[in-house]
Amino acid sequence: MELPALLIKSLQDVKGFNKEAFEAVHNSGEQITSIRLSPVKKINDFQKHFEINAPVPWSSFGYYLMSRPSFTFDPLFHAGCYYVQEASSMFLEQALKQSIDVTQPLRVLDLCAAPGGKSTHIQSLISDESLLVSNEVIRSRASILKDNIIKWGCENVVVTNNDPKDFSKLRGYFDVIVVDAPCSGSGLFRRDDEAINEWSENNVALCAQRQQRILADVWPALKKDGILIYSTCSYSQEEDEDIVKWLKQNYEVEQIALSIADEWNIVETECSCRFWPNKVKGEGLFMTVFRKKSEEQTVNFKSKMNLLSLTKAELSLVGEWVIDAEVSLLKNENTVYAWPKQFLNDFQFLLQQLKVLYSGVKVGELMKNKLVPDHALAMSLMVAENIRHIELNEDNAIAYLQRKEIHVVTDEKGWVLATYKDYPLGWMNILQSRINNYYPKELRILKERP
Ligand code: SAM
Repeated sequence: MELPALLIKSLQDVKGFNKEAFEAVHNSGEQITSIRLSPVKKINDFQKHFEINAPVPWSSFGYYLMSRPSFTFDPLFHAGCYYVQEASSMFLEQALKQSIDVTQPLRVLDLCAAPGGKSTHIQSLISDESLLVSNEVIRSRASILKDNIIKWGCENVVVTNNDPKDFSKLRGYFDVIVVDAPCSGSGLFRRDDEAINEWSENNVALCAQRQQRILADVWPALKKDGILIYSTCSYSQEEDEDIVKWLKQNYEVEQIALSIADEWNIVETECSCRFWPNKVKGEGLFMTVFRKKSEEQTVNFKSKMNLLSLTKAELSLVGEWVIDAEVSLLKNENTVYAWPKQFLNDFQFLLQQLKVLYSGVKVGELMKNKLVPDHALAMSLMVAENIRHIELNEDNAIAYLQRKEIHVVTDEKGWVLATYKDYPLGWMNILQSRINNYYPKELRILKERP
């Protein structure tokens, strides 16, 4: 692996850099695989399901695996029971927990969120009374983000597709903003040697300018005493410590030093955390936390509801599908959404201010006095208890996820949840002579099993 000489030269004086060890770890061919478990779709026997090596020390949900299994052919991956995530990134848990009381109701913005690693993690850390806005500016990546949020099965997330500057009007709205900034990507060289060819000094400079612009754009949306978490997967000081200095020079902030256990081997620079892959079991990462000290006028976010309430008949129909929880059932034309009652105002406000791709749980489509349930409902924790399940064996579960025809012997008729080890994978409609597979076409496994 030929690392860029100019990068190596630029890192000589950076705290914790050791040229020989850094080059050796890149040339070792070692690949680290880690997963983060869902705290709600709990795999009871996960030690049997995976070959666990060790827990990720800075996360309560993270585990290193002995080797990389085929996640594509694991139905529990598609059920949203876990997320495959690089271990250093899971340090976000410390940044969040050490800087704010996560048991309080919070409004959190994950500004650069696709494909959703940090968003799904944040969602597992905040309370049900907290709201997460998960944003991605690039449309195609925002769709992937939406799919991952749906798969994670949560009600308190709004997925948006906005430019950072669109958030400046939401003055003082958020308690926490996470900026996992687009960067020159040197921290991922070990996993992705393509990134080496794309690296240049010029790109580092361009990324640093863009990072400043993103932070400046989103700054007004953070309330006074709110928390800003900034991270990159770049080793370059221009994108890391220099951004910290720039922020301190230009904004009223207080940096929050996180406590780091010695055995984690994370290097502290400018009150921030640096992850060197020759020191930690993970990829390159820089993370830092600030508290905003300047006053911010708060936006008035009361807004009129323009989604419609369901009629009595529709409510009783849809009510059969959804657990009787603290949710409001609303419709936009024939599409029914479930919004947690405590977020009605917020969701509506966000719908008016931003380009919202998804919010709450999409329950389904009303068609001729019937409900066609949506995949998102199957993935959520909202499905009514009396909805029938059909448990699939592994081969059938894979065939279902490939959107193939399923053959199971059953007396059931109509809509049922296809489950694997009791975890819902999606919907099937059982007719007289066949079973219709309603797994979404765009999510299906395209490969054949080896
Ligand atoms: N947080 C994500 C996760 O944990 O899965 C990874 C985010 S990645 C490091 C940075 C993201 O920023 C990318 O999804 C990229 O599309 C997005 N991005 C690119 N240009 C941007 C811009 N000008 N403003 C905001 N985000 C941008």
